[in-house]
Amino acid sequence: ALQCGIVGLPNVGKSTLFNALSSAKAEAANFPFCTIEPNVGVVTVPDKRLQILESLVNPNRVVPTVIEFVDIAGLVKGASKGEGLGNKFLANIREVDAIIHVIRCFQDDNIVHVAGSVDPVFDKEVIDTELQLKDLESVEKKIARIEKIAKSGDAKAKKDLEILQAFKKGLEEGKNARAVQVEKEDLEAVRDLHLLTIKPVLYVANVDEASIISGNQFVEQLKENVKDENAEVIVLCAAIESQIAEFEDPEEKSVFLSEYGLDESGLNRLINAAYKLLDLITYFTAGVQEVRAWTIKRGWKAPQAAGVIHTDFERGFIKAEVIKLSDYEKYKTEAACRENGKIAIEGKQYEVQDGDIMHFRFNV
Ligand code: GDP
Repeated sequence: ALQCGIVGLPNVGKSTLFNALSSAKAEAANFPFCTIEPNVGVVTVPDKRLQILESLVNPNRVVPTVIEFVDIAGLVKGASKGEGLGNKFLANIREVDAIIHVIRCFQDDNIVHVAGSVDPVFDKEVIDTELQLKDLESVEKKIARIEKIAKSGDAKAKKDLEILQAFKKGLEEGKNARAVQVEKEDLEAVRDLHLLTIKPVLYVANVDEASIISGNQFVEQLKENVKDENAEVIVLCAAIESQIAEFEDPEEKSVFLSEYGLDESGLNRLINAAYKLLDLITYFTAGVQEVRAWTIKRGWKAPQAAGVIHTDFERGFIKAEVIKLSDYEKYKTEAACRENGKIAIEGKQYEVQDGDIMHFRFNV
């Protein structure tokens, strides 16, 4: 499964959030949250469409998709220079697919703030700077490695060098690598570096309970600061989320949520935003044995999507039968969809769409 790393300064609420995620009562009983390692947890992706399919098909079981969250504690100023366990944590970040940056937007005099006062923009920049310094190091190393080759007239090395210089300049100016403007194909030149600040990011503004709906001045400062990043800012209160996560009964949970003026938990919003951030979409298989959600990357063709179920499905792919969820809802059964011409036969070039209900035909 794809992984999101939870980062942020100490005492901003990362562990509280991670623990809330870990204790969240999974919506489908056969996929309880499990902790793989002390700091890695698997969480199911809430998806109302699964419930719709469940009610139509009445299967023996329902299997949702999952993503993994990694609690990357301990980033501090100086991490890029090995301060604290800096290098270890930065190595953890290198392995994740996307970053969830938690930022303290709550005031609480009992909880020490590492920099003295609550200042979301300052906090964000401390973390960004550490990641940028590390990236700068990676870029400079590669520049040193290919400079000679480029001078000797090698065209590719010359081009790569130009691109690397652009990243170097951006990073030195305090930009994240993801904000450096280059052509899409130019990203090849830095792919092997697995830059930290090129990974997609979303921000969690951890607020106090009074600010869950209204937000507060800290949230405004953060939003203003990231407005050009095209990144999502999820406002939640980690302390309350850990309480919400304890409810097993959906009724009780929704009563609790409505007391705070919420119609959905912040964790659900976060999980769904993370899924989107990873550029993932879901297709379904629906049979009496099992109704199941499968995760693929946006843009995948039918055979590659089939390969998520089994590599044989991809290798022996013949065709796919595709039903749109809206048709399934309208006609109620697969047979009725068929009678009404609502099953499309698609070939190898078909790009699977979010929400497709798929049935693969393949040679063994
Ligand atoms: P981490 O160092 O980023 O993992 O931070 P923790 O999750 O350990 O939280 C640090 C402290 O802040 C703990 O005492 C938490 O109880 C407290 N805390 C976390 N989230 C909230 C919140 O939403 N509101 C308030 N008032 N305190 C919080």
